[in-house]
Amino acid sequence: MKQKSIWTNEINEKIYPELKENINCEILIIGGGMAGINTALNLKDNENVVLIDKDKIGYGVTSHTTGKLTYLQGTVYTDIQKAHDFNTAKRYLESQKDAIKMVLDNIKKYNIDCDLEKSDSYLFTTEEDKRLNNERDFLSKTDTKFEDAKLPVDIPYKDAIKVEDTYVFHPLKYVIGIKEIIKDKVKIYENTTAIDMDIKKDKYIIKTKNGNTITSNKVIITTHYPFFVLPGLMPVKLGLNQSYALAAKHKNEKWNAINIDKEIYSVRFYKDNIIVGGFSHDLSDNIDYKKEEDKLINFYNNYFKDKPEEVWLTHDLKSHDHIPIISRLNKNHPNIFIATAFNKWGMTNGVLAGKIIADLVNNVENKYETLFKLDRPFSVEKTKNFITSNFKIGKTYIETKLDKNKDFYNKTYITNIDDHPCGVYIDEKGKKHVVRNTCPHFKCSLIFNNADKTWDCPCHGSRFDIDGNLIEGPSVFDIKLKEDK
Ligand SMILES: Cc1cc2nc3c(=O)[nH]c(=O)nc-3n(C[C@H](O)[C@H](O)[C@H](O)COP(=O)(O)OP(=O)(O)OC[C@H]3O[C@@H](n4cnc5c(N)ncnc54)[C@H](O)[C@@H]3O)c2cc1C
Repeated sequence: MKQKSIWTNEINEKIYPELKENINCEILIIGGGMAGINTALNLKDNENVVLIDKDKIGYGVTSHTTGKLTYLQGTVYTDIQKAHDFNTAKRYLESQKDAIKMVLDNIKKYNIDCDLEKSDSYLFTTEEDKRLNNERDFLSKTDTKFEDAKLPVDIPYKDAIKVEDTYVFHPLKYVIGIKEIIKDKVKIYENTTAIDMDIKKDKYIIKTKNGNTITSNKVIITTHYPFFVLPGLMPVKLGLNQSYALAAKHKNEKWNAINIDKEIYSVRFYKDNIIVGGFSHDLSDNIDYKKEEDKLINFYNNYFKDKPEEVWLTHDLKSHDHIPIISRLNKNHPNIFIATAFNKWGMTNGVLAGKIIADLVNNVENKYETLFKLDRPFSVEKTKNFITSNFKIGKTYIETKLDKNKDFYNKTYITNIDDHPCGVYIDEKGKKHVVRNTCPHFKCSLIFNNADKTWDCPCHGSRFDIDGNLIEGPSVFDIKLKEDK
């Protein structure tokens, strides 16, 4: 079984150069996942737009998703009603339906080859649980066409509903398709990491890891986790949720499903494969990733026949009121824009982000601007979630400090070298790989991810390989022994 996402199989694409000089531009988009690439598409006719990505465009969380385009998103409508009210939940539902339409329009207009297929979406519960009825009530009140349904697979369940106007696609092919469309209008730089930002006379000066600068009038941050570019910028309004997914051979079927129980799992099909995801937990739960991955594999083996061929894990950001953040930063920085916290529904919300941010940049009215804005109205539920998740991160921070000498998983341990805590991983050939054990971002200690063989930060999700190279932010620095940040 390969430890990789199915979406990166057999992809051929043009790689864009790294930025090797200082440049000026009107609009800089940092981060080319679903949110950044759709923003670039909507801004391609603006003057002097630049898109940078620290890796290859599309290879962040977007290449680890299950790629469903659906508005049946667990208990999201009940959750939003709790945090806000019925009308807010109804607007969110409308935004998701509009987003699906936007993806379909883009695919048609630009003839993007991304294996789009219609796929009925099922929402089900395995428990005696009234929460599915709450979603039912909500959908009835919004005149959404749905029906009570039998799950088309032999998994035990108690109750299910389905909608028919939903889709699945190949997320990476979609992103690469857009990259091709924008390439003559937007300047694209890959392998270009933004590490810092200064302001001089209303201009933003972004520093890159290899020492260049990009001076821009407007900056759009679509880096998934918004890295620390300005004091006070990082919205502590976020939580991180880790999920696992696998793919195996299976005949193609035209449906997808997700349940609403404590252990969530999600199913879809792609060509002759089935993709099963789920078993999420908060990153700050600081637990054994391999065990969680095995839970998913065991669940799959109980109900399906063929051996999994790929397995992967990744995390997504969640907001405290279940609505993503797609917004101008604040009044002091009206020319910084941010799109993040898609609550594991970033295929729809990423495409929506692209349109809303482009409209904000071009001063065009957008009906969803107030729904997704960063400083939306106060809510008790949101505040409660905010306090709980920040308490958990604080607790995790302390635990990682106290737990220093834990022998994580037999071949991995923490030791002090020159008074610095270091993580040691011994590979199959007996070679030692030593790295700094402190995350450069917030100084949390790192834990070893024995599923992917990486060093991961349980506080904010930065990830590093066994030799200390940065895989994923918010850290923008490596943890190699010589890089003492
Ligand atoms: C297991 C799983 C299944 C999911 N399934 C679904 C689904 O079925 N449907 C759905 O709607 N959503 C789903 N999601 C959610 C969805 O995949 C994400 O919300 C979405 O991909 C996030 O897109 P993004 O553009 O914000 O982030 P990313 O795709 O991570 O893009 C961010 C980009 O920014 C770049 N970057 C980061 N830091 C820097 C820097 N300092 N400088 C330059 N570039 C930088 C990264 O390299 C990356 O390419 C799922 C998520 C998970 C975890």
